[in-house]
Amino acid sequence: MLQFQMIKTQDNEKVFHTELPVEKCRCLIIGSGPAGFTAAIYASRANLNPILIEGTQPGGQLTTTTEVENFPGYPNGIDGTEMMEDFKNQALRFGTEIISGTVNRVDFSKRPFKVVVDEEKMFETETVIIATGASAKYLGLPSEERFKGAGVSGCATCDGFFYKGKDVAVVGGGDTAAEEATYLSGICNKVYLIVRKNFLRASKAMQEKVSKTPNISVLFEHTTDEIVGDKKVNGMILRNKNNEPVKIDVSGVFIAIGHQPNSEIFKKFLETNEVGYIKTLAGTSKTNIDGVFACGDVQDFHYRQAITAAASGCIAAIDAERFLNSL
Ligand code: NDP
Repeated sequence: MLQFQMIKTQDNEKVFHTELPVEKCRCLIIGSGPAGFTAAIYASRANLNPILIEGTQPGGQLTTTTEVENFPGYPNGIDGTEMMEDFKNQALRFGTEIISGTVNRVDFSKRPFKVVVDEEKMFETETVIIATGASAKYLGLPSEERFKGAGVSGCATCDGFFYKGKDVAVVGGGDTAAEEATYLSGICNKVYLIVRKNFLRASKAMQEKVSKTPNISVLFEHTTDEIVGDKKVNGMILRNKNNEPVKIDVSGVFIAIGHQPNSEIFKKFLETNEVGYIKTLAGTSKTNIDGVFACGDVQDFHYRQAITAAASGCIAAIDAERFLNSL
């Protein structure tokens, strides 16, 4: 039911009043990737009448990949965008209300929680499920943008298979880059690991794995100038520590320079780790605020798979249902 209410911004330095239409609900889901839609399917079927806010990238990160081949139930693989349409249709089938828009601020100081969408509408909700995901960081090169989905990828587990027997490069020196390089070494002929410093930031265990893998070649103190190719990637122009250009021939480039969890607007209320992942109680989706749950990549930096995100969305819906039943 819509009603009008005066609200204050949570930023005390810029207090202002604004009139927004208010809609009340029991379960608000923020995010429309596998975690958000799975939470929606479960919450709808449990009669929580969830409302799902799609966010800036409807469908989430999977809409930026081409073929998804590792999600059970699709024996022939499926286009990422198509798969997310399936998720969405399944949530709609059970009655989830889906709203296009982006949450721009929240107030979790007390229940009902307040969630403002596009500064146009406010939701008052008994529970919130945060499934806002994470965004892979990219280098910001025009050539990288040009070859996204045609040789440039942000996920080795998703796309590595397409480079079977070929030479590829991984950019980055952290745990993600080391893990991706190790994973690709089992599929590809040769893996260049391109590290801008003269050391790996990855954990000792991962460093050891990399150095013991014969088909990984680490190029320390190399940066990326350009990714080259015709319709698809066929090489990279790097720059070494003497500022000389170095050309390598590769069919795929995996950018693994970190992810940014999309948690900024929640940080005032929720505990996050040092890089911004929302902290949840082990084995659950519970955050430090009762009634606020987090699932998917916004709280998971270990696995980051569509299937693990979907599973954690299910957990969040069950946690929300139990919380509501306990009130
Ligand atoms: P990190 O921030 O740890 O590492 C990012 C890497 O990318 C660094 O080597 C950094 O270089 C490099 N980098 C950043 N920007 C650029 C750029 N523009 N050009 C070239 N290189 C760049 O991110 P990760 O994703 O690797 O890890 C994030 C967190 O998740 C870490 O805490 C990590 O330990 C954890 N993690 C844990 C795993 C596990 O336990 N199994 C698996 C994966 C991640 P520089 O060092 O010069 O800054």
